[in-house]
Amino acid sequence: MGLAYNVYLNSNKIYGCKSCKTHLANQDDIISRNFRGQHGKAYLFDSVVNISEGQPGERNMTTGRHIVRDIACKQCGDTVGWKYDKAYEASEKYKEGKFILEAELLCQVT
Ligand SMILES: [Zn+2]
Repeated sequence: MGLAYNVYLNSNKIYGCKSCKTHLANQDDIISRNFRGQHGKAYLFDSVVNISEGQPGERNMTTGRHIVRDIACKQCGDTVGWKYDKAYEASEKYKEGKFILEAELLCQVT
């Protein structure tokens, strides 16, 4: 894939990849902190940067059936969370196109 061009976020509250510190998301873009990932606490973000998306797959979660894809840091390839492609439950539709980042896999960059 060659050298990746990285986006640098301009904020004093930025989450980065824990492994390589690449910027991933602005804390102001958090929609909800009330999520759980494989490693514990996880946040729902409106947008993230510098990630690569895996193949979509169906996953049964506590909130119902979803189509999700893993997202990984574009720089080092570590998985950092997942993206919701589709939610089947009407009450979960707000998550479609949004991103989960696991708190344990993030670091505060600034
Ligand atoms: Zn990384």
